[in-house]
Amino acid sequence: MMPTVTCSNPYAQYLAHQDEIDEAIRRVLASGRYILGEEVAAFEREFADYLGVRYAVGVGNGTEALGIAFAACGIGRGDEVMTVSHTAVATVAAIELAGATPVLVDIEPEYFTLDPTRLDEALTARTKAVIPVHLYGQPAELEPIVAWARRHGVRVIEDCAQAHGAAYQGGRVGTFGDAGCFSFYPTKNLGAMGDGGMVCTDDVALAEKLRRLRVHGSQKKYVHDIVGFNSRLDSLQAAVLNSKLDCLDRWNARRREIAQYYQKALAGLPLRLPVSEEGGTHVYHLFVIACDRRDALAEFLKTKGVDVAVYYPVPLTLQPCLAHLGYRQGQFPVAERTAKEILAIPEFPQMAMVQVRRVVATVGEFFRQ
Ligand SMILES: *Cc1c(COP(=O)(O)O)cnc(C)c1O
Repeated sequence: MMPTVTCSNPYAQYLAHQDEIDEAIRRVLASGRYILGEEVAAFEREFADYLGVRYAVGVGNGTEALGIAFAACGIGRGDEVMTVSHTAVATVAAIELAGATPVLVDIEPEYFTLDPTRLDEALTARTKAVIPVHLYGQPAELEPIVAWARRHGVRVIEDCAQAHGAAYQGGRVGTFGDAGCFSFYPTKNLGAMGDGGMVCTDDVALAEKLRRLRVHGSQKKYVHDIVGFNSRLDSLQAAVLNSKLDCLDRWNARRREIAQYYQKALAGLPLRLPVSEEGGTHVYHLFVIACDRRDALAEFLKTKGVDVAVYYPVPLTLQPCLAHLGYRQGQFPVAERTAKEILAIPEFPQMAMVQVRRVVATVGEFFRQ
């Protein structure tokens, strides 16, 4: 039996960049400074430059990046925050943990991102922010979303956890809203050797608040103006991430090449292939197909040594932990159908062509049997 083709492979990414990562880790170990410090400041500068934004604030993970962004915008109890019914639970958990109420809207059926035509019906007097999620590496339709938010005095906080380096009409995602939140979980397009996150903004007052909020609300040591978080990026992760940042565009380009190969090779099968939004640069964090025989296809691929995964099988509107929001089955038809049909097939920059071809051949075999 041939070895399994995995869905993602952070170890392969380590091997592809091992000398630089080992050297970065040794440097931090020898520095004696393991939390924040110059390594974090250096990565924040580089990442802000890469995105084309003024400020970047390193935090503990992507979920806390969202939570700290809400706190910095003064969003909490009594406020409503809109986001999509089809995203990682983290997006919605961050809203709940902030004490605010998530208001979910359905997704666009082809892009799997927030459907801007649904915003009006979800707006109330308590709406404080909207979170477009650049799911699977695809930029959400930022232009209509940001224009709508500006019209209604609503903040835009982008969830960029799956879309490092993705672009929209010439700008990187994370630079369109009031704040852009990133995760550096190891399998993300830019991944740490552990947890990490970042909040980006052009707003100096917001950046200053974010910096205070990540360290117990203190500006001066041991003087606390506000109650904050403990959510700091550690120096080891910052050094590793900084050493990998130079590779991000190349790795994303490779993800797009693999995606193009899949698009050509899988065309004609009874599948829905990813549709890229016009004006957007998709960075294929995941290559997600849709198929009405999804469960049978997934089972077949797994038995043939092709790893697949469903992101996400249960719509958020039907999650037990969100039952108090009172959503009913059938209320979010696009998200509900999507959850039944989607399947992520292997996609990572270090994939060998022989692996890519094996995925294609095995999918073809399923439909021929
Ligand atoms: C990974 C992810 C998060 C959370 O990031 P963590 O670093 O795991 O906390 C948030 N939103 C989306 C869409 C994600 O994929």
